[in-house]
Amino acid sequence: MIEIQGLCKHFDDFHALEDIHMTMERGKVYGLIGQSGSGKSTLLRCINGLTTYEKGSLKVDGVEVSSLRGREAREFRRGIGMIFQQFSLLGRLNVRENIALPMKCWKWDKKAMERRVDELLEMVQLPDKGKALPRELSGGQKQRVAIARALAMNPKILLCDEATSALDPNIAETIMDLLSDINRSLGITIIVVTHQLSILKASCEQVYLLEKGRLAAQGDITSLFSQPPEALRRLMGKEQEVDASWEEGTVLRLLPTPEQAKKPILSRMARELGEDFSVLRADREQYRHGAVTYLLIQVPQKILPAVENWLREQNIAWAAEPRQQEKREEEAV
Ligand code: ADP
Ligand code: MG
Repeated sequence: MIEIQGLCKHFDDFHALEDIHMTMERGKVYGLIGQSGSGKSTLLRCINGLTTYEKGSLKVDGVEVSSLRGREAREFRRGIGMIFQQFSLLGRLNVRENIALPMKCWKWDKKAMERRVDELLEMVQLPDKGKALPRELSGGQKQRVAIARALAMNPKILLCDEATSALDPNIAETIMDLLSDINRSLGITIIVVTHQLSILKASCEQVYLLEKGRLAAQGDITSLFSQPPEALRRLMGKEQEVDASWEEGTVLRLLPTPEQAKKPILSRMARELGEDFSVLRADREQYRHGAVTYLLIQVPQKILPAVENWLREQNIAWAAEPRQQEKREEEAV
């Protein structure tokens, strides 16, 4: 369990993290997102004790990380694995030697070390690559080696800092599948830092969004993305904005349950209300724990009350979309 309360991290007078509060339970997969420079890597470094913090508390399994010194600190860090975008393998060492590095550091006996390396190679599905050098591997294979090395000491927590950002999307997906398997079979808590929202959606249960060092949004992934708060909309950027002519009414986001989504909601609504609706977007997104469907429709102002009534009667959840274009125009003035 990771408990963060009022955490602040400053570099001189620059506030890299300000008043962060988070609770992460053991064995779950958490997403940490935010623009470049929002403090994600800094937060990971606070969690694994590689950097200190000025204010607040950060406890891992009840232990205040900043209070650890010397051997205690090293043992604590042994319990936290980390993987990076650039893999960080040693080029002159082969795959087995790279994976064995942490065990060597902790002076494991040679036989135990070889056994563990075999196990790990099996786990990351590279059983016959032991003798290869990093330069002979593809990006995805390199990241598998880095994962094996990160898991060598049986960590309780695995931190992934943009671990799939340098990979092709389909390779990135296989790496995330591997991490999901590892999470399920070993019960390791995983924190995924990424700017790839598809990766996030497929792998995480809970998400924290940082903006300029502050926690700007948080929640479970399906509710966050089905009704994105302002900060998440800003991160998703223009591609997520709907192209609606706002003078002509309100844009509603319908959020049917999976059962409701199987039925022809829109055509029924149009027939029963005797009105036509423009569909601006409809999508079904796959998440780790199921799919979410949403429909964006444009509703003429004069029939808005009738539509809302109908949705209420049918027990279909909805929300009005904020008027992004108007807001941008205001900002521009
Ligand atoms: P992210 O991982 O979200 O891109 P970082 O955590 O790396 O962001 O950085 C957050 C902010 O803190 C950035 O503005 C960065 O320039 C600054 N920063 C990070 N490390 C240092 C450091 N060692 N000294 C000074 N500023 C730093
Ligand atoms: Mg970073």
